[in-house]
Amino acid sequence: MYDIAVIGGGASGFAAAVSAKQTDGQLSVIILEKMFRSGKKLAATGNGKCNLSNTNITSGNYHGSIDAMEIISKTPDAMNYFRDTYGVLCVTGSEGRNGGLYPRSNSANTVLSAVRLKMQSLGIEERCDFDVTKIGRIKNGYKLYSKNGEVECRRVIIACGGYAGPAFGTDGGMLRLLRDMGLNSAKICPAVAPLRVAPESVKGLKGVRIKGEVSAFSDGKLLRKEAGEIQFNENNLSGICVFNMAYLFQQYEGRLTLRTDLFQQITESDLYEYLADNVRIDRGDYPLEEFLTGIFVKNLAIYLVKKAVGRSLDDKIKSLKNGEIRRIASLIKSLEFEVTGCSPWQNAQVTMGGITAECVNGKLETLKYKGMYLCGEILDVAGDCGGYNLQWAWSSGIWAGRNCALSLKG
Ligand SMILES: Cc1cc2nc3c(=O)[nH]c(=O)nc-3n(C[C@H](O)[C@H](O)[C@H](O)COP(=O)(O)OP(=O)(O)OC[C@H]3O[C@@H](n4cnc5c(N)ncnc54)[C@H](O)[C@@H]3O)c2cc1C
Repeated sequence: MYDIAVIGGGASGFAAAVSAKQTDGQLSVIILEKMFRSGKKLAATGNGKCNLSNTNITSGNYHGSIDAMEIISKTPDAMNYFRDTYGVLCVTGSEGRNGGLYPRSNSANTVLSAVRLKMQSLGIEERCDFDVTKIGRIKNGYKLYSKNGEVECRRVIIACGGYAGPAFGTDGGMLRLLRDMGLNSAKICPAVAPLRVAPESVKGLKGVRIKGEVSAFSDGKLLRKEAGEIQFNENNLSGICVFNMAYLFQQYEGRLTLRTDLFQQITESDLYEYLADNVRIDRGDYPLEEFLTGIFVKNLAIYLVKKAVGRSLDDKIKSLKNGEIRRIASLIKSLEFEVTGCSPWQNAQVTMGGITAECVNGKLETLKYKGMYLCGEILDVAGDCGGYNLQWAWSSGIWAGRNCALSLKG
């Protein structure tokens, strides 16, 4: 019988196992992973560069019923944690982006290898191809069942992630099992993901990328505003600023509108004046489709004029009426898209929803099952894009691992 079994060999499971062993080196700790190899998702994070945290973390970066900041504030900051625990040096600034913290090597594999080395040196066991499909209670602990055998343990830490990125082993199976065991899960939806819009609303825009600002509204209320690169695809909008709005779909399904500002540097009235007094005159003899080509890439320029004036683009620019130019300026400043859905889980990085705050105590132990701890994405926490999700995985893993180990001391 192991003292602690950690189900899930991902970021939070690794942190939990290491933290438990560091708390009490005498404990026997095993990681059970359903894939043939653990850490597959970690190796793919940040496009292989591993955006492992952020230097600017606030509660506004986290969504869901769990108070992520409360736990993050109790654990070491990522820069120190990685240097002191794994010998991995991290950087921000020129090599990082937007406060993002990356390993100095710019390689996620460096992080994974360093974590593996540490786990080996601490004597943490690992068993792969072990998909836990049932958790049973036994005297003084738990029995974990998989088609490849059974493992008994005094304590269990569940670090199985959610539904996002199913190719990495996270297909929501453990969340469903925990729900069947009577734990409450908040409604789930893909987060850090593109948002779907009607294909006809973005017709002609596929492949267009532009720096701008996106605002999310529901029933006229502004929910979130963020600047960045907006990417138009066949049936969705993407880009980090859009990814960061995806979690809102959970609460505002069917009532979510994205409004883009494609020219933040100028007010709508100044833009109108420039278009009417300069562009209409300077380009007067060109066809309408050239009206905005000095400002935007051609596809976007044509899309905006077509949508605003609704007449032949062969007409001359000088034929534009003031009202039409006003409509063009207004579209540039506030082009709206109704969100029709979320992207499939394959395209999502994070799961919004998960086991809710009322199911666990401050030590991340479930109230219903003593000696069962949860950490990482399986809990009802979703962070923004930019290292916030891995930070949650590390912190919640460290915290659950430490508390779990301490519970065996008493
Ligand atoms: C492509 C991609 C890129 C990302 N990039 C970043 C980034 O740069 N920065 C950032 O902050 N976040 C990033 N994220 C999000 C981040 O990776 C996750 O939030 C984080 O890994 C969650 O950690 P976790 O330990 O909870 O779960 P995971 O890392 O998902 O690990 C869960 C593990 O549990 C295993 N498992 C599941 N069910 C069972 C079971 N029943 N039995 C045994 N094992 C099981 C899975 O196979 C998996 O290995 C990215 C996500 C994706 C998909």
